[in-house]
Amino acid sequence: MSAPERPDVVVVGAGITGASIARHLAAAGASVVVLERGRPASGATGRSGGMVRAYDPDPAIAELALPSLAVYRDPANWASGRSPLRAVGSVTAADPAQEAELRAEAARITAALGGSAHVVAGPDEAAGVRLAGGIALVEPEAGWVDPAEVTGDWLAQARALGASVRAGTPVRAVTALGGRPVVHTDDGELRAGTVVAATGPWAADPVPGLRPAHPVRARSIQVSVVERGPDAPPHATFVDLRTGRYAKPVGADRTLLGMPHLVWDCPFDAPADPEHERATTTALATHLPWVALAAHVATTRATDAYGAPAHGPSGLLESTGVPHAWSVRGWNGGGVKTAPEAGRRIALACLSGARTDVA
Ligand SMILES: Cc1cc2nc3c(=O)[nH]c(=O)nc-3n(C[C@H](O)[C@H](O)[C@H](O)COP(=O)(O)OP(=O)(O)OC[C@H]3O[C@@H](n4cnc5c(N)ncnc54)[C@H](O)[C@@H]3O)c2cc1C
Repeated sequence: MSAPERPDVVVVGAGITGASIARHLAAAGASVVVLERGRPASGATGRSGGMVRAYDPDPAIAELALPSLAVYRDPANWASGRSPLRAVGSVTAADPAQEAELRAEAARITAALGGSAHVVAGPDEAAGVRLAGGIALVEPEAGWVDPAEVTGDWLAQARALGASVRAGTPVRAVTALGGRPVVHTDDGELRAGTVVAATGPWAADPVPGLRPAHPVRARSIQVSVVERGPDAPPHATFVDLRTGRYAKPVGADRTLLGMPHLVWDCPFDAPADPEHERATTTALATHLPWVALAAHVATTRATDAYGAPAHGPSGLLESTGVPHAWSVRGWNGGGVKTAPEAGRRIALACLSGARTDVA
C-alpha cells in the first residue's frame, strides 16, 4: 500500500461552502484535497433558490452577506469571466416599526456597494411585490445566483490552482495521530494538516470524529415553482421578515415560492409535503396575487443545517473531537448569500492554524 497523502487541508463536502473554502485555500498556495461523497452540489446547494442580498437582520450574517454580494457582482472573480448574479433586485419586507433600522441599513449598503438601496414606506408595492401593510428595504443590485453554477466555477478555479477534487469519495471517519487529523476513505488514508467539514445538513449526523462541539440539526426546506404567465408582472426576489415567506423569479416565466417548513431532523430526501405546498401558494398570493391562479410546475424538498454558532454570533467553525479538524457552522437556510466571504474567512483561519473558534 502506498504512503498516505499529506495535504495541508482536506475539505469534506463539495457544496457551495466547501467549494468556496477550497478555492481560497488553493489561491493562498495551500495543498488541498476536496472529498465529496456524491457529486459536487448534490446536497442543499443543488436544490437551493440562491437568493442573495446584502441585508440580513442578524449583524453577523450581514457582515458576511455584504462583501459576498460584491464578489457575486464582479465578473473578475469568476473562471467563466462573467458574474453569476441575476440582478433582478431584492425586496425585504418588514414591520413599519423597523423603518429607522432599515434606512440605516440602506445607507450602509449603498455606501459600501455604490448601489441604490432604499426604503419603500407608504406605497403598498415594491418591485412587483405587495407589502401587505409592511415597509421594504429594496436592493436593486441584489438578486439570485445558480448555486450549482457558482460551486462548479469555484471548484474549477481550485483545480486550476492545484487542488484535487474527488467526487464519489465519502469520508468514513477522522481520527487523530500525533496531534493531527487522519481522514479515512474507502481508497485509503490522508494525513491532513487541517480538516474542514463543510458537510451541510450531514453535520447533524456526522461520521466519527467530525461531530461539532455544539450540534446542528437538519431542518426541512420546501419550495414550489409556478408558471408566471404573460400577464403577471416581473418581480424582484422577496423575503418577508415578519413571516419568513419568500419568492424569486426563475428565468423569464417562472417563480419559486417558499415559507418556513418547521420539520426537524428529517432525511435529506423526504417526499414533498402537499399540505405545505398548498399553504405556501396561498400565503404567497398575498404578495404576488397572480400566484393564486398560476400553474404548478414542481415542488422540491431538502434540508439545511440549523444551529447557533458556538461562541457568539460570529463563529464560523466549531471544534470537533479531533485536533485541527473543524466543522463549519450551520447556515440556517441562508448559506448561498454568505458563501464567498465565509469561505475566505474560513480559509484564512485554516491557514493560520485555526486553534480556536473563528470570529
Ligand atoms: C430548497 C432550498 C432553498 C434555499 N434557498 C436559499 C436562498 O435563496 N439563499 C441562500 O442564501 N440560501 C438558501 N438555501 C440554503 C443554502 O442552499 C445552504 O445553506 C447551502 O447550500 C449549504 O451549502 P453547504 O455547502 O454548506 O452544504 P451542502 O450543499 O449540503 O454540501 C454538503 C456536501 O457535503 C457532502 N458530504 C456530506 N457528508 C460527507 C462525507 N462524510 N464525506 C464526503 N462528503 C460528504 C454532501 O454530499 C454535500 O455535497 C436554500 C436551501 C434549500 C434546501
